[in-house]
Amino acid sequence: MPETVLQAPGESHYDVLIIGAGMAGMAAAIRLAHFGKKVCLLERHTVIGGLNSFYKLGGRKYDVGLHAVTNYVPRGVRGTPLVKLLRQLRIHREELDLCEQLGSKVSFPGEELTFTNDFSVLESEVARAFPGQVDGFRALAGEVAAFGDLSGGGGGDPSARSVIRSHITDRGLEDMLLCPLMYYGSAREGDMDYSQFAIMFQAVYLEGFARPFEGVRRLTRTLLRKLREAGAERCMGCGVRELRIDRGRVAGVILDSGREVTAGAVLSSAGVTETLRLCREAREPEPPRNDDNVGRLSFVESITVFRGQPRDLGCDNTIIFYNDAGRFDYSVPGDLVDPRSGVICFPNNFDYGDRQLPEGFFRITCLANCDGWCSLPEKEYRAQKERWFETMVARALKFLRPVNRETLNERTLARDMFTPRTITRYTGHINGAVYGAPKKVKDGCTPYENLFLCGTDQGFLGITGAMLSGISMANRHVLSRKSDKSLEKMTQAP
Ligand SMILES: Cc1cc2nc3c(=O)[nH]c(=O)nc-3n(C[C@H](O)[C@H](O)[C@H](O)COP(=O)(O)OP(=O)(O)OC[C@H]3O[C@@H](n4cnc5c(N)ncnc54)[C@H](O)[C@@H]3O)c2cc1C
Repeated sequence: MPETVLQAPGESHYDVLIIGAGMAGMAAAIRLAHFGKKVCLLERHTVIGGLNSFYKLGGRKYDVGLHAVTNYVPRGVRGTPLVKLLRQLRIHREELDLCEQLGSKVSFPGEELTFTNDFSVLESEVARAFPGQVDGFRALAGEVAAFGDLSGGGGGDPSARSVIRSHITDRGLEDMLLCPLMYYGSAREGDMDYSQFAIMFQAVYLEGFARPFEGVRRLTRTLLRKLREAGAERCMGCGVRELRIDRGRVAGVILDSGREVTAGAVLSSAGVTETLRLCREAREPEPPRNDDNVGRLSFVESITVFRGQPRDLGCDNTIIFYNDAGRFDYSVPGDLVDPRSGVICFPNNFDYGDRQLPEGFFRITCLANCDGWCSLPEKEYRAQKERWFETMVARALKFLRPVNRETLNERTLARDMFTPRTITRYTGHINGAVYGAPKKVKDGCTPYENLFLCGTDQGFLGITGAMLSGISMANRHVLSRKSDKSLEKMTQAP
């Protein structure tokens, strides 16, 4: 059946309207449509995927967002986040074509820790590099594995550093363990909430990394097919300008075109503050600013496309989390970029069997200052991109010892870079904050009775997390309102 992509909703009333066709919004729409809900996804942009998308430049397709899908577990393992989301979205494993990582590492001055999708590798690496700490590390891993509150309840959330320090005394090891988890999922500077740390520890170390051979496009195509089969509507180029509030409820959704649509419930993946800023009470023309909970952590990413494969240059790792400073500093840099730490990703280095990507890709992600990038005049913006591209590559090459600049230059076919300005423009996230607001709204509730959050600001982060968030918020706030016993059973974790 050919898909009809609407530019305006086909109806004027829906059971549920979903703001944003990123991973969270699409997962929520599929889930709701499976249960017969009349659902419409409203997306301001003309491409799906949100932060997890791709773009075309000079005849090539570049992935945004996806370095690796986290939470990978082999076939047969039950009850984990990836298994749950595949089941609840009725996706067969083969449809995603997930291929495991070859091996990643954390590289700090004078020390490295290798890890794979087999947790015992990291355990033995800690025992080798920090022999006095390995018992504490095992105890920490045990505590994380026993942490079950992934749906998030109320109550306080201790600092991850304080929990780590109750098991591990070496600050170097503490920083090394935190570096990948912060880069892949912390909206807080310097520390993480323990619940977030536990989710990310499980996602990265206890489970692991995988990637579809075709990258982001395989993920988004699969979700699109599911949306179509389930009968959900999708309106692209269809932004939400305002949520009209009446007596504590969303009474109407006003689109950028000025058209009004109504719904029994609205699920928003736009972010907590971003969503509340859309709400307008009839008697209060200006919404409250709610600026006390906006994220600030954003990133730049450089992409070099080169002839050959990374292994031809002696690079076998999938992802390298590096830090060149005395202590690892995860915070908004004063300058446009902090090149001292970052993430190197080689999308070629997954176990694709007989297949290989036709060209080499070398991506570097570093912390960046959104205000700085957004305030540059166009000419200066381009010059700074050029300058920081060079700096980031030079710094990252220190962690890829056999590769020198000349060899890389000789093989380079194309390059590009995106900045917080790009992220803000294409996702609407305030400050280009990839991981959203520091205070997560774990129950997904807002001050308005029929308006709920899903995605990054609900608390599950990354690609797997965003999809799980969409599913769990759809289950909790829309589907579980039914008393149908079979439905309740379906919506419980496996
Ligand atoms: C460089 C980079 C690398 C990453 N690497 C990884 C990785 O390796 N592994 C991993 O798991 N995750 C990674 N991530 C994070 C991951 O991509 C995101 O966490 C995830 O995609 C978030 O999904 P979401 O649906 O919650 O939000 P988003 O993707 O932000 O989707 C929100 C959508 O809402 C739309 N929207 C906003 N406001 C409105 C409005 N008013 N009207 C209509 N539409 C609106 C936006 O246009 C957007 O499409 C990375 C991100 C970046 C930037």
